[in-house]
Amino acid sequence: MPIYEYECKSCGCLFERIMKVGEEVPACPACGGNRPRKRIAPFRTNAWSAFLDRMEKRISPEKSR
Ligand SMILES: [Zn+2]
Repeated sequence: MPIYEYECKSCGCLFERIMKVGEEVPACPACGGNRPRKRIAPFRTNAWSAFLDRMEKRISPEKSR
């Protein structure tokens, strides 16, 4: 699922949301503003690092046994 970053025009805060298909633009969690602007940001970093971590565990042999 894509993660989008939104910037609220009212209070200027940033927040991220996982957007499903057809979902409406979320309101600002800080001020409730309903016109956040979608930003294109490299916010996959966390997901990507988690993915790499998983792959690393997969690749490296289990030494516990
Ligand atoms: Zn706001």
